[in-house]
Amino acid sequence: MDLVVYDTFDAKKKKFVPVREGHVGMYMCGMTVQDRPHVGHMLAFVCGDMIRRYLEYKGFEVTYIQNFTDVDDKIIARANAEGVDYRVIAERYTKEYFKYADMLNIKRASVHPKATDHIKEIIEMIEALISKGFAYEAGGDVYYEIAKFPRYGMLSKKNIDELKAGARVEVGEHKRSPLDFALWKAAKEGEPYWESPWGKGRPGWSIECSVMSTKYLGETVDIHGGGEDLIFPHHENEIAQSEAATGKKFVNYWTHNGLLNLVGEKMSKSTGHFFAIEDIVKEFEPDVVRFYLLSSHYRSPMEFSRERLAESRAAVGRMANTFRSVEAYLGDYKPKGSLDELTGKDAEFWKKVQEREGLFRKAMDDDFNSAGAIAQIFEIAREVNLFLSAPETPGKKLTLARALEKIKELGEVLGLFKSLGGEIIRLEDLPQEVRQLVEERAKARKAKDWATADTIRTQLASMGYHLEDRPEGTVVRK
Ligand SMILES: [Zn+2]
Repeated sequence: MDLVVYDTFDAKKKKFVPVREGHVGMYMCGMTVQDRPHVGHMLAFVCGDMIRRYLEYKGFEVTYIQNFTDVDDKIIARANAEGVDYRVIAERYTKEYFKYADMLNIKRASVHPKATDHIKEIIEMIEALISKGFAYEAGGDVYYEIAKFPRYGMLSKKNIDELKAGARVEVGEHKRSPLDFALWKAAKEGEPYWESPWGKGRPGWSIECSVMSTKYLGETVDIHGGGEDLIFPHHENEIAQSEAATGKKFVNYWTHNGLLNLVGEKMSKSTGHFFAIEDIVKEFEPDVVRFYLLSSHYRSPMEFSRERLAESRAAVGRMANTFRSVEAYLGDYKPKGSLDELTGKDAEFWKKVQEREGLFRKAMDDDFNSAGAIAQIFEIAREVNLFLSAPETPGKKLTLARALEKIKELGEVLGLFKSLGGEIIRLEDLPQEVRQLVEERAKARKAKDWATADTIRTQLASMGYHLEDRPEGTVVRK
């Protein structure tokens, strides 16, 4: 089956053909590290991670680049407000990103380049754009001249004349046209700066992505991802910069995820409530949050609320029950024997599992339809539960053990069920520190101190340990 991918630029699904056979170059616009990551950021990175994992599952070698914008107006403003160097802010929130990315099972990129590590290459690309006539220097700033790039607006399908009418030149800017955007900004008093042919200054926002994408992935990349909110102007600017500089097509498939619709007053960005991922994982297990973020097609807008998360928790809980029941039935059984020699009911059951696996791939091949793929994993779980309650057959243990492995394997393709798939560790085999926390949590639960119990659960999750409270006691998985 061919993989088809929707491309925002061509506004249609296209058969996926990489530039280099067997290899995929994928660029993901990363965070501006100015604040704690919120769930909208993490949605984009979970979607990118899901696409990457599926490409790897299909056998592609994926080079995945996700940058950090580590110098920018907001970072500088925050640094000034706190009276610290901008690097303190950038490093703090870079760390925060990795902390929550790990919790949400987002794999590390092949490279996480930073803007400030690429100033030399940024200056080189700006010089090339000036010498080719696409950019001009004015008052220590350098601007990209939109009028020189007739394809501007083709990604976002925006009308340039209308945009121009709505835009304005800010005080202190020296643009020829209000839509021209800054490639280089002259340093103001007290701002961090680098030396350049145009005097002391720092890069504009979009230039770093063009530079890093070319440096790590070549002139044309297969996939470029990010939230829909980046289409204009950021990605439009990236195309204008890269295609003017190289003369080549910049991106073959633009994959933009739909945005989160925060439902309810308490979730508004301005009040900050229930929006930072830090707060969300205090209430909901990271596995549940990731499940929820992948439970719609990545291009659809998503409603985000406690109710929706609670539904996801229930679904993950049902899957946990299936794991539990099969594990209890299997005991210490170790799978042996071949699935090719199955007969009767065993063969019938295994055939159903394989059919569902095929449908899982079919859903993912259709523009990474994770919602459809998740539904197929649950269909396997449904078959497992039915077969579990069926009369004993010669291959029942073998097929159920293999079916459980299949659920784990397909879950792993989406980065799901991390907390269910891990090995169960006996309390006495846990590291001292972990064991102590598990015992403290048991005490808190006994005293009905749910807040403390939840805090400890989150702490253990960040250490890679997942808890399941069963009637006979708490089970810990790594
Ligand atoms: Zn970008």
